[in-house]
Amino acid sequence: MDDVYRRCRDLGMRLSRQRRMVLDLLWSEKSHLSARDIFEKLNNLGRNIGHTSVYQNLEALQSAGVIECLDRASGRLYGYRSDPHSHLTCAETGDIRDLDVELPPELLEQIERHTGYCIESYTLHLTGRPRP
Ligand SMILES: [Zn+2]
Repeated sequence: MDDVYRRCRDLGMRLSRQRRMVLDLLWSEKSHLSARDIFEKLNNLGRNIGHTSVYQNLEALQSAGVIECLDRASGRLYGYRSDPHSHLTCAETGDIRDLDVELPPELLEQIERHTGYCIESYTLHLTGRPRP
């Protein structure tokens, strides 16, 4: 948590009470939430914050690269990790889990040869169901 506060300060971002609330919630939930989810969770916790403030803080944190933003058909989801990582979506519940997947170097080399690009980072989107 201190890490992300420090990162914000280094980026010259003001850490208002509302901004800290949004960060604290994302770091404690460790999942992918919509602006509405975040607004509702904070208000259920008795935190007094407006929907516009939640939305503006999420946008600011996302454009500074402090948090992650996933564009889904149902809208934008925000998460606490900003490093490249992969996702597993449950086909039954729509829940999204963070995954750290490392592709074999041979596969990356093959992709580089095939495309003529140097791969710098990658994220995989996997979909599945709980195994019976
Ligand atoms: Zn994620």
